[in-house]
Amino acid sequence: MATCKSCGARVFWLLTKERKRMAIDWDPVRGGNVQIVESGGYREARVVEAEPGVLRHRAHFASCPAAKELRRKGPLPAERQADLFGKDRAS
Ligand SMILES: [Zn+2]
Repeated sequence: MATCKSCGARVFWLLTKERKRMAIDWDPVRGGNVQIVESGGYREARVVEAEPGVLRHRAHFASCPAAKELRRKGPLPAERQADLFGKDRAS
């Protein structure tokens, strides 16, 4: 487990299909759009269509109060996530 450097929320890090690191909220939420899938022995974060009522994870970028300003400018580059949310750490 890791903790967001900016807001203190519990997060974990996974790679996406594009092999980019993504900070993900620890607890799943209804209407989340990040599905965790097993892929070749690794867990991978896959962004899917959000469905209301379906419990899924959510990118921390979408919920972090500190990312609010950045969200307006569009998706957060993977390398900026480490600045904002902290380092990928083994739990
Ligand atoms: Zn945060």
